[in-house]
Amino acid sequence: MKPVIALVGRPNVGKSTLFNRLTRSRAALVADYPGLTRDRHYGEGRMGDRPFLVIDTGGFEPVVKEGVMQEMAKQTKQAVAEADVVIFIVDGRQGITPHDKAITDYLRKSGRPVILAVNKAEGMKYTAVVADFYELGLGSDPLVISSAHGDGVHTLLDEALKMVPLSPAETEDEIESGQKHIKLAIVGRPNVGKSTMINALLGEERVIAFDLPGTTRDAIEIPFERDGKQYTLVDTAGLRKRGKVFQAIEKFSVVKTLQAISEANVVLLLMDAQQDISEQDAHIAGFVLESGRALVVGINKWDGLDQDKRKEIKSEVERKLHFLSFAKFHYVSALKSTGISALMRSIDSAYAAAMAKLSTPRLTRVLEEAVEHQQPPRKQGGTRPKLRYAHQGGQNPPIIVIHGNSLDAISDDYKRYLEKHFRDAFSLTGTPLRIEFRSGK
Ligand code: GDP
Ligand code: GDP
Repeated sequence: MKPVIALVGRPNVGKSTLFNRLTRSRAALVADYPGLTRDRHYGEGRMGDRPFLVIDTGGFEPVVKEGVMQEMAKQTKQAVAEADVVIFIVDGRQGITPHDKAITDYLRKSGRPVILAVNKAEGMKYTAVVADFYELGLGSDPLVISSAHGDGVHTLLDEALKMVPLSPAETEDEIESGQKHIKLAIVGRPNVGKSTMINALLGEERVIAFDLPGTTRDAIEIPFERDGKQYTLVDTAGLRKRGKVFQAIEKFSVVKTLQAISEANVVLLLMDAQQDISEQDAHIAGFVLESGRALVVGINKWDGLDQDKRKEIKSEVERKLHFLSFAKFHYVSALKSTGISALMRSIDSAYAAAMAKLSTPRLTRVLEEAVEHQQPPRKQGGTRPKLRYAHQGGQNPPIIVIHGNSLDAISDDYKRYLEKHFRDAFSLTGTPLRIEFRSGK
């Protein structure tokens, strides 16, 4: 399970700036999918080979009244509850404010490990900046950073991750070779029918086990069988409860969703046909794309809709979810158990596509065909990129690494053209596909 870091602090201290810095590479990835906006609150980052999740609580700000913070917003509380470690950000140029003190009190009660980051400290002397902030009495020494310039951010992240013990799964390879059970996560916003779908797949009695809170930082895995095939349903344990502060946590948790996605091979994203597609649906879809996991979309509650309504919904789905066109869409009813077998077949084929082994000779042949059919355009005045050969750099998602010269000159359009060509040639339906370029000298 990936460590979860929450960024907390009053407005304008630089939370979003730090968030963007910690999750930068991921933001670029989402830009590849026209029509998809990013959820500004949740992101993924990586330090060396250790991935982590970041929650930016900016935007769910504390409620302020007469200069004193009355209440931490509910979402901020939830973020703190779900975090393994909190980075508490203060403004080194302003010094301590009453809000900072109120947040300190809350964090102390939460029992979460906290690191104090004194931001906007570029060009300032360490001792002068931190002296003030010892008064908050948070234990460890404040760290001095500049989110805008990047100073001290690496050390901050290093310290934060040191406070989260490595779980055994993180030290293992994510994909064991020869794994027979498809690991499946069922995600979607509240009330789309996830529990009903799990019932349909597992039978009533299993779901009780599904709802049992597990131990800290565990993923719950429930094996089940359907049409003679083995699957494992993955979910993450109930929120870690430490102290009374966190009792009123909402039913839906983005962090749990993110963790379940990253533990799975294939994600079944459920939506509600009887409701409009919401921003929350699109954000969850975006998380799946970022993770690279295989995807099947289930438009649930298809029962009880007339033909006109069905037509209308289908066209809305096609328009709004165009960026998921690599995935199969199924119109199903979890309640009436209709369409489920076809859905499961798509899950099998999405898994097969995600785990496909693509040999270097075949990849290179397909690459040559693609180039023959359409040359990469020359960049203004520059040389034409030369694509020489391709090999597979990973599975789940498949990564195709293309070697050649002057490959930085490849346009986004041409990259999309190649992606489509490989996808068609190898029948890679249901999985994101990543294309990487490596230029020789
Ligand atoms: P948030 O409300 O806590 O998310 O804060 P933002 O990230 O939106 O930043 C608030 C303001 O502080 C913006 O104008 C940022 O450009 C600025 N800011 C953020 N980090 C730094 C920093 O390290 N140094 C300086 N000088 N300004 C910063
Ligand atoms: P979850 O919050 O995503 O786990 O959603 P639930 O499984 O608890 O379902 C929310 C509500 O939608 C419940 O009242 C279900 O009975 C209902 N529901 C779930 N699936 C279907 C379906 O296929 N058709 C209809 N009509 N209702 C459904």
